[in-house]
Amino acid sequence: MIPVFDGHNDTLLMHLADPTRDFFARHEDGHIDYVRAREGGLVGGFFAVWTPSAPLPEKYKDISEGRNLPVPPAGAVDLAVARAHADKCVAQLLAWNADEEGRFRLVRSAAELERAMADGVMAGIMHFEGAEAIGPDLLALDTYYAAGLRSLGPVWSRPNLFGFGVPFLFPSSPDVAPGLTPHGRALVRRCNELGIMLDLSHITERGFWDVAELSERPLVATHSNAHAVCPSPRNLTDEQLAAVKASDGVVGLNYNTSFLDPEGKRETDMPLEVMVRHVDHLVDKLGIDRVALGSDFDGATMPDGVKDVAHVPNLMNALAKAGYDDESLRKIGYLNWVRVLKLTWGE
Ligand code: ZN
Repeated sequence: MIPVFDGHNDTLLMHLADPTRDFFARHEDGHIDYVRAREGGLVGGFFAVWTPSAPLPEKYKDISEGRNLPVPPAGAVDLAVARAHADKCVAQLLAWNADEEGRFRLVRSAAELERAMADGVMAGIMHFEGAEAIGPDLLALDTYYAAGLRSLGPVWSRPNLFGFGVPFLFPSSPDVAPGLTPHGRALVRRCNELGIMLDLSHITERGFWDVAELSERPLVATHSNAHAVCPSPRNLTDEQLAAVKASDGVVGLNYNTSFLDPEGKRETDMPLEVMVRHVDHLVDKLGIDRVALGSDFDGATMPDGVKDVAHVPNLMNALAKAGYDDESLRKIGYLNWVRVLKLTWGE
């Protein structure tokens, strides 16, 4: 079985919704738990700290569920709300890290990541999906860094102090709103100084180019696909992919049906060949060393073929059938994440 290191999951949210849920036990619902992760070859991944949006104003309620309708941006999140939520997520990660059987390790360096994988211990990276828990003075960034934060997307799909995210429109260009604010530029610089990886998966195209111009590290989209195959604004255009390649970054394949399907459909009976088409396009534009996986497990609608983490070998088999050899599958599975994290964090 090819080991998989995954670029994005929302599993922490499952545990906040039900604090009695045991990560190390097998569950029938949700997409990731420790037991099914072992069955599917998952050796670790980015665990997202994401705060749910404030409710939309009443007048938008009717259309916010509709596909192909102009969905207004999700409600912005208050700093105190986001910080309280982030603290709970961080505490959950630290609790798993303290597992008395040593089955999970929060990793803060490339060396720690490689050691965890060599030891057969699940490796978790603390990732903030949207920087709402960080105030304008950026002091909390240092606090969370000390707690283990090593990856951050300045925005989720909503506006915040730092910039603008893409709303869930289809079809749409990702060039739908402004880019980084002055606070966002300061955040990017400070992340570079601390060695926190910047994730561009939810940012507008203008925000992407702002980070490309400012950041001294590889450009990374942890969970996004090819816009040329599925024109969702959550996916990257060929121009953006060229910039990721030039910076020696990485793009992680997102399994969410509506970011895969060429018509943006949410149906789960999608053949795995659609995922292969995205990988083919990403490999064509980025090269085999810059394509990875970023499932979005526990945060999105999965195709039946990869309905949970235990089924990820189905995707690997589909890629093998399409001609990817063992070395290529290992690169996509985990080696490319290790490579870009070494470049970003240092050896
Ligand atoms: Zn996301």
